[in-house]
Amino acid sequence: MSQPNFDFILFGATGDLAMRKLLPALYQAHAAGLLNPNGRILGVSRSPLDTAQYLAKAEAESRIHIKQNFSEEKWASFTARIRYQPLDVSRPEDFARLADTVNAREGTDCIVIYLSTAPKFFAPACEHLAAVGLNAPNVRIVLEKPLGTDLESSREINADVARHFRENQIYRIDHYLGKESLQNLLPLRFANVFFEPVWNRDYIKSVQITIAETLGVEERGEFYDATGALRDMVQNHIVQMLCFTAMERPKSLSADDIRDEKLKVIAALKPLSAADVARYTVRGQYAASGSLKGYTQEHKVPAGSRTETYAAIRAEIDTPRWAGVPFYLRTGKRLSRRTAEIVLDFKRQPENAALFGCGANRIVITLQPDETVRLKGFVKQAGSGMSAISAEMLLDLEHAADARRAEAYEILLREVIDGRLALFNRRDELEQAWQWVMPILDAWAADPAAPHPYPAGSNGPEAAEKLLAENGDAWAENDAGSLKTPCR
Ligand code: NAP
Repeated sequence: MSQPNFDFILFGATGDLAMRKLLPALYQAHAAGLLNPNGRILGVSRSPLDTAQYLAKAEAESRIHIKQNFSEEKWASFTARIRYQPLDVSRPEDFARLADTVNAREGTDCIVIYLSTAPKFFAPACEHLAAVGLNAPNVRIVLEKPLGTDLESSREINADVARHFRENQIYRIDHYLGKESLQNLLPLRFANVFFEPVWNRDYIKSVQITIAETLGVEERGEFYDATGALRDMVQNHIVQMLCFTAMERPKSLSADDIRDEKLKVIAALKPLSAADVARYTVRGQYAASGSLKGYTQEHKVPAGSRTETYAAIRAEIDTPRWAGVPFYLRTGKRLSRRTAEIVLDFKRQPENAALFGCGANRIVITLQPDETVRLKGFVKQAGSGMSAISAEMLLDLEHAADARRAEAYEILLREVIDGRLALFNRRDELEQAWQWVMPILDAWAADPAAPHPYPAGSNGPEAAEKLLAENGDAWAENDAGSLKTPCR
């Protein structure tokens, strides 16, 4: 496929995200020869810089984030694509100048406008872009998260953008969708005969989806305190991991067929009543432990904050494939390990118990820090006699494909330039996810109790262990899945 000739207009070009992620991602795509040589990048933001000053800033702040494959020569050819133009979102005349710059160039196939700014700028930016014709069919608009802080604000942002752009021009970022190890669930499930027949309630006892961080809130205390773990991780990334795990086979790989199936999963999540929230969710907050500070001692976090830094939810998907299977979702900061993983625990098979004991198989799909699929089962114990011991088969995704593995943002930016929407959230998906999360947010906000404290650096609050124990389950790290006789 030929590479489209693009104009990439980066709003928030001087910001942290642009410097740490977006420019390095564009550099990597450039260095790998994956961008049309005539494609151009135009940075815009308030700062009154000229192009040379902007490039000096990019050199100082962005280049250091390019960890792999850096070459002086390629950096020089990359920066030759870049221009900078000051623009204040509140000044319509700045948009007229932007349109002049864009229109001065001929032969462009598509114009990508990436709004890497606070969401309060989305509505005025879209309005002013439309006023100067920068919403034509060949324009794609990319929206960074957070897209709202609740259902109402999310609907408002979507409605504001939809006044000027059609849905098929809107690319809503969730960088987890750029992770190839998450995308890999589609071929893993639907290109292999040995997974799909057992990927259902007849064989699977429970599913665990975890995003765990070892870091605390660092310098982002003010932002985090207004956000919390549920909004920061569950409503978006964990729901997306759930969708790829639970969706039915899409009719095709088209963006809408994939997004239709994801939407069905989110819509089938059983709504939680206030009583369900009390019973099936746990919110926690890290407390000081050893040399590690507690959350309320962090910079710019109010002393009595009740914001959750940990969330665990027992969810259920009301479809023929999954009815009755608990999906345990959890995320937290300052935990003992950093990981993003999906664990499928299979039901024990009593018919094998007389021979080898009753074993529970497990599939572990790890998105980070490594990208692997591990099948946990049992093999013959070496030596005489016939007994079985635990063993695992490892599929290392980084080595399975003989190609450079790109970071999530690079993949997503290439998808936007190529005009493929499958890895971006559609409006209905996003709003449905908020709808499911809202009763939890509301019940937690109304609950005068403090979140469950957990020691910084631990596995989370004890209450989250009990959430699984009452159903005879345990978090994967506490359950090695041994052979048992009798079968329980
Ligand atoms: P940031 O460092 O505060 O940068 C904000 C950018 O917006 C700057 O380039 C700033 O330009 C520009 N800006 C501010 N007011 C403006 C105006 N009136 N007109 C035009 N431009 C204006 O923010 P960030 O961390 O890059 O984040 C950008 C967005 O991405 C936010 O919505 C954030 O929540 C989201 N996000 C960030 C990260 C991350 O890791 N940083 C991750 C995920 C999502 P000047 O500097 O020239 O004033």
